[in-house]
Amino acid sequence: MNVISVKNLTVSYHKKPAIKGINLEIDSGSVIGIVGPNGAGKSTLLKGILGLLPFDSGEIKIFGKDIDKSRKRISYIPQREQFDWDFPINVHDVVMMGRYAHLPMIGFPKAKDREIVDQALQKVEMLKYASRQIRNLSGGQQQRIFLARSLAQESDIYFLDEPFVGVDAKTEKAIFNLMKELKDEGKTILVVHHDLGKVLEYFDKLILINQTLIAYGNTKDVFTAEMINKTYGGRLTILQRTEELVGQ
Ligand code: ADP
Ligand code: MG
Repeated sequence: MNVISVKNLTVSYHKKPAIKGINLEIDSGSVIGIVGPNGAGKSTLLKGILGLLPFDSGEIKIFGKDIDKSRKRISYIPQREQFDWDFPINVHDVVMMGRYAHLPMIGFPKAKDREIVDQALQKVEMLKYASRQIRNLSGGQQQRIFLARSLAQESDIYFLDEPFVGVDAKTEKAIFNLMKELKDEGKTILVVHHDLGKVLEYFDKLILINQTLIAYGNTKDVFTAEMINKTYGGRLTILQRTEELVGQ
């Protein structure tokens, strides 16, 4: 069974379509890049699949079920600017949010939940910052906290929206290693990404999108000069570098 099935998805803002007629069948155990120019609808695609936006048409199934029945199995890290970094909350409590899906209706975190939170923080090398206010962290540290929250949620599907933006080299490596680790555990990881430089290194598969789906397949098949030109449609700076990027 496919992990994610998207049929004919169209999502509009103020009646203007941002993505149109998207069809995707995604199976488990891979890291998939979502690539396209600014405003191409990459974030909208993630939010659409997550059921966070009303859609004009389409059908989404996660593990063969409606999103409301599978929500706990998906963990989502939005683009960083969408979070209120001045909110007074410490690192441990942000990561504990990842456990809420596992708690009973009126439940408090138990020792096991705290242990899982600590383990997740350890994994991203942020355990010693557990009581720090999140606003006092660097961009890379903030991103690692959100990774820890995702890990604590123990999901089957991970949606990361531009996780590499504004992070230091250490965080970039940590994100890359975690993606690989999760994949080896059979999880599915979808990553919005706009820097074409590392595409071949990072992603097993690629979704190329610019309002409509331009291509979807194994990175080595899809990441071609022709497909990139089609996706970025005549943006010269990109075109000039394309041959170099795909090694052709
Ligand atoms: P990407 O993530 O690829 O940069 P988005 O999915 O954020 O693109 O946006 C796709 C299009 O939808 C853009 O033209 C953007 O301006 C528009 N858009 C995104 N969010 C909103 C919103 N909340 N209200 C109105 N238009 C939006
Ligand atoms: Mg975006």
